[in-house]
Amino acid sequence: MVDSEQLIFERSDIYDQGRDRESAMDPVDVRFPIKSSPSTSQTSHLALDIGGTLIKLVYFSIDGNEDDRGSDVCETSRDGEFEVVHGAGASPVLRGRLCFAKFETRNIGDCLEFIRADNLHYTGVQHQHGVARDKTFVKVHATGGGAYKFADLFKEKLGILFDKEDEMHCLVGGANFLLKTVPQEAYTYLDGRKEFVQIDHNDLFPYLLVNIGSGVSMIKVEGDGKYERVSGTSLGGGTFLGLGKLLTKCKSFDELLEISQQGNNRAIDMLVGDIYGGMDYSKIGLSSTTIASSFGKAISDIKELEDYKPEDVARSLLRMISNNIGQIAYLNALRFGLKRIFFGGFFIRSHEYTMDTISVAVHFWSRGEAKAMFLRHEGFLGALGAFTSYENPEPQTI
Ligand code: ADP
Repeated sequence: MVDSEQLIFERSDIYDQGRDRESAMDPVDVRFPIKSSPSTSQTSHLALDIGGTLIKLVYFSIDGNEDDRGSDVCETSRDGEFEVVHGAGASPVLRGRLCFAKFETRNIGDCLEFIRADNLHYTGVQHQHGVARDKTFVKVHATGGGAYKFADLFKEKLGILFDKEDEMHCLVGGANFLLKTVPQEAYTYLDGRKEFVQIDHNDLFPYLLVNIGSGVSMIKVEGDGKYERVSGTSLGGGTFLGLGKLLTKCKSFDELLEISQQGNNRAIDMLVGDIYGGMDYSKIGLSSTTIASSFGKAISDIKELEDYKPEDVARSLLRMISNNIGQIAYLNALRFGLKRIFFGGFFIRSHEYTMDTISVAVHFWSRGEAKAMFLRHEGFLGALGAFTSYENPEPQTI
């Protein structure tokens, strides 16, 4: 099953039009300056990030270019399937939209079919000039471990040769691209309130990037291409999904998230109040509701797993993983004196409880000094980084 979205990046934006959580990754129109000679390029405008759990695709499409926005400065003409916009005195540009799709890595066949059906590997500048599609291999930027693991499969099935891009480099490239280019990309989430953060491009660095995928990477980012992976943890999205499947009857991530909404972590977590007879441990600033030990209640209850509600188990698990990541992130921010922490990766899924837990952890431990921020295109950082690393100039928002 494909889970795809068309994200047209657009300044006059559209947040609150009742979009659901997944499609809240909003549209942005982009234009590509055409520099390289398309006829010599065997480069596609498709990029992949093949992770341990999910495959992420970013591709360029010209769909929806019917309007003539910007025509006061541009004269437009149709050339094949692409609209080529000639700016006043500037180089020609291609206008279109970036589209995003994701698949479960275990269903990689669906991803291959999706690319084949839409000929995605022939999108972009090359397509416009009708480079022969058969007999040639097309080079596509790919990152993540799957770029190695599945290279032969893509070559054999689709004639795609992977240009393998470094995973950390792509994560940072994708994050920097979004933070510099896409308006209202970053936001805070605390006490049920989402607030977009204006990023001053001249004051973006340094920051800590925490990517929560199957595992977790923490990267200190000091500039474009200037970064260091300073920490990480194996207790990430894969742990939540894996343990969640083992402990509940849930079959999918969505199901786990869904039941966690009805759960109560106090049924299974050991709180300070459970130990102190309902009282706070105020001397060291711990309220009675603070979790002393995740899943700790299970040791004293004479109960089997079946006696606990799956909803409560899912809730405790989500809380445990999110809390732990928030705390480790804070410690690394402290270690390097970083005030801003951006969280990405598909574990977050714009899920309110997850974001709230991470934000509270960062806020609590830093005493309000550090800020947790989230990204609308959270799961596509690596794929976007691979996409923007083509030799063609970076896409610009219109
Ligand atoms: P990776 O590159 O390691 O696959 P991702 O950023 O794609 O990392 O995040 C994968 C994690 O996202 C999973 O471990 C899981 O916790 C979560 N997740 C979100 N949506 C899904 C989904 N539809 N199917 C499986 N896992 C999902």
